Amino acid sequence: MRLILRIIAALLVLLILVLLVNTFRLKSHQLTDVSPASPIEVPDSAIQHLAGAIRIPTVSYTDYALTDTTQFDKFLTYIRTTFPLVHQRLKHETFNQYGLLYEWKGSNPALKPILLMGHYDVVPVIQGTQRMWKRPPFDGLIEGGYLYGRGTLDDKMSVIGLLESAEYLLRTNFQPERTVFLAFGQDEETSGQRGAQTIAAALKQRNVTLEYVLDEGGIIKTDGVSGLKKSVALIGITEKGYLSLELTAIGKGGHSSMPPVQTSIGMVAEAVSKLERNPFPARLDGGVDRLLDYLASEVSFGQRIALTNRWLFGPLIKQQMAQTKSTNASIRTTTAPTIFRAGAKDNVLPIDATATVNFRLLPGDTVEGVIERVKDVIENDSIQVTVLGKGNNPSVVSDPESPSFLKIHQTIRSIFPEVIVAPYVMLGATDSKYYSALTSAIYRFSPVPLNDAETQGIHGTNERIRVKDYQNMIRFYVALIKNN
Ligand SMILES: [Zn+2]
Repeated sequence: MRLILRIIAALLVLLILVLLVNTFRLKSHQLTDVSPASPIEVPDSAIQHLAGAIRIPTVSYTDYALTDTTQFDKFLTYIRTTFPLVHQRLKHETFNQYGLLYEWKGSNPALKPILLMGHYDVVPVIQGTQRMWKRPPFDGLIEGGYLYGRGTLDDKMSVIGLLESAEYLLRTNFQPERTVFLAFGQDEETSGQRGAQTIAAALKQRNVTLEYVLDEGGIIKTDGVSGLKKSVALIGITEKGYLSLELTAIGKGGHSSMPPVQTSIGMVAEAVSKLERNPFPARLDGGVDRLLDYLASEVSFGQRIALTNRWLFGPLIKQQMAQTKSTNASIRTTTAPTIFRAGAKDNVLPIDATATVNFRLLPGDTVEGVIERVKDVIENDSIQVTVLGKGNNPSVVSDPESPSFLKIHQTIRSIFPEVIVAPYVMLGATDSKYYSALTSAIYRFSPVPLNDAETQGIHGTNERIRVKDYQNMIRFYVALIKNN
């Protein structure tokens, strides 16, 4: 008996030792010794240029017929006159009239080009919410240190910020070593097919391969991430896939005075309920593991033990992450019933009932795999499962240790020395997915500090950017282009 107790005690000591050794051996992923970027004076005209772009309501609608293309024409004229050097010295092309591609030839043709991208279409302001805006969404007003308006965070600040940075560098006669492409879409908010998809296909046809792509996506989150109470620059290294399925049951219809044991509505309701009760399994290997790697060295000692010893604490970490909606969505493929349709009259049994369920796929899952699992969970052959649209698989997970990632990382630390850099899984979709045939290094990041409340302005009300933050964006893009 005593021997057994001794063995158990020895094993425990060993376990604690292993945990501690792992924890102490952990090295920080943060780049140190980054010298600050050479200071540049951003003129006041820069924020005025962005304000001017906000005043042109380039709103895109899912129904393309609703799109007011005269605004897009205005926008093109606006950037041509606002950024004359870019338009004189860079090769520029349009795709489907409004998709924009600029090529800034590098001095060293042996190096692969980089592509910096954004989109200048914006989402509409939802009817009835106009009055909730502190300043009108398309007036481009600057007040109290902020520029207000639709597109200040999504995503005209990237487009105008990149053009401003290029114009600045051209004024100093700078030439990049690598070729720099600037690519701006006109329809990211609806599909990206006219813009980014077409531009990417054209480059592919010209056999262009890219060193890396930088698109919108992550931000500098100022109110911390997963228990780390510091500003964290989140660089999206992957984005989730997308699939909508329609579940349909066909009943017999008839009078509601003589219903069958199970109606079509009952069948579809049961199927949806089963899907909700059987969520996709939680996994840490869909990209979130890379975030945890980076966070581990920055969190408190107790958390560090858990994050470095995921072989032991994995289940606990998953359980904790499942508690909040956003972290839950980064550890599994999510299931969201979004539309339910059946019946028209209170005393008539409907013939068919339909539910639409939207899935966001974690890297590692596939469209086919999700469909198969849905059928397994529903376990009812009389329910038809059909795919709405095409659906797309998750993107590849780009390497958070690649030279390109390190360049972006280094540039962030040269402008924002206090910020922790970390890779993460993007829950939404961006236009960058169309470039996956041109490079495996796709990063999604805008250098703008925001807290949770401020991000609500994106696609919401009171979208606004701090003037000071916009100036730092330009410093970041200038440093990044120089850094190549
Ligand atoms: Zn956007």
